[in-house]
Amino acid sequence: MLKLDQHPSGRHFLQIPGPSPVPDRILRAMSLPTIDHRGPEFSELGLKVIGGIQKIFKTEHPVIIYPASGTGAWEAALSNTLSPGDAVLMFETGHFASLWKQMALRLGLEPEFLSLPASQSWRYGVRPQLIEERLRRDGEHRIKAVCVVHNETSTGVTSDIAAVRRAIDAAGHPALLVVDTISGLASADYRHDEWGVDVTVSGSQKGLMLPPGISFNALSPKAIEASQRSLMPKSFWAWDEILAGNNNGYWPYTPSTNLLYGLNEALDMLLEEGLDQVLARHERWGEGVRRAVNAWGLEIQCQEPALYSPVLTGVVMPEGVDADDVRRTIYDRFDLSLGTGLGKAKGRMFRIGHLGDCNDLTLIATLGGCEAGLKLCGVELFGSGLQAALEFFADNPAPGTPAARKLAAAASTGPSQAGAVRA
Ligand SMILES: *Cc1c(COP(=O)(O)O)cnc(C)c1O
Repeated sequence: MLKLDQHPSGRHFLQIPGPSPVPDRILRAMSLPTIDHRGPEFSELGLKVIGGIQKIFKTEHPVIIYPASGTGAWEAALSNTLSPGDAVLMFETGHFASLWKQMALRLGLEPEFLSLPASQSWRYGVRPQLIEERLRRDGEHRIKAVCVVHNETSTGVTSDIAAVRRAIDAAGHPALLVVDTISGLASADYRHDEWGVDVTVSGSQKGLMLPPGISFNALSPKAIEASQRSLMPKSFWAWDEILAGNNNGYWPYTPSTNLLYGLNEALDMLLEEGLDQVLARHERWGEGVRRAVNAWGLEIQCQEPALYSPVLTGVVMPEGVDADDVRRTIYDRFDLSLGTGLGKAKGRMFRIGHLGDCNDLTLIATLGGCEAGLKLCGVELFGSGLQAALEFFADNPAPGTPAARKLAAAASTGPSQAGAVRA
């Protein structure tokens, strides 16, 4: 066990899928003096971060920022739109979907949980077809909301949210669409308005590269309308007072001022780089990590390649190997933290986060730690994942870098030469 007075040299490798490594630029921004949250300067900050975060959610509608973890924003989404006893349709994509369902129960809602057969459970995305069929059978419209997780952090499987919207529309059902993209936002493609989402829930400590402590509800006009009829008790979470204050860049209670400095910096970084490039960067990292897992001859938890998460990869252990032993060995030997298997996946898999302040070589180091740790634990590997990932990263420069531009330029003059060779 590491003692606090024996801090190892160099940086700890925090490769869990949230909290993710926070860039120094954000930490520096957060170290500015705290200001009066009712003073004139604050309003400028408030309005700027609200405007910026709307761009990340791809919405023109209000986004609420809570001084709370993602779980708080889950509760806010349900308690602002629903009434006690309302039926909600949820889908068992993994541990986080299961926790959200537990919350719905505790809040006095009636969640119905759609699940896949045990052999497929937690390895696939939401099946829009099952949602459509269930909604078609709900002629009385007892179901008030469909709640799904966009990037299931416990498994590394994403879901097709646009297809869920189409399923609700095809059934002609008025249920709200409520989506958790706590770990997807700013790392996986997400479009609140275009996909017709009514409430999107997110958090700070994953793709946004911030420390834990703030979370979000992105709203739709239909969700705001529903909030005016909702009978669930709420006060801290209530949208109406927050929306009123936010119009002028203020909050009805003390917001997390220094985390908002951090958010402001994160938004600048994401928007300077361009969201498309940020997403491409994560896709590429995901591909590199999956190549490593494939080269090791180990299984990836996600069984649906179109839905591989760009945020994290779940690595399944062979029969008889305890994933937490492997994780512990890697932590003790290489000062590298990997995500544990959650819920049903406990001991069966570990998760490699490829989000936050990473680069090719932090991931190479991570994969090196994994490869060595797996071997130390007696796991037989087919080949070197480290080598496979290194080759992939070397052959495919990161989008937006000079090397990528050079390669693209060569490719655009390439066809004539290639043609000449072929001729
Ligand atoms: C992290 C996470 C949560 C929980 O958020 P907290 O900030 O830990 O409360 C919920 N859903 C998903 C998909 C997550 O990744």
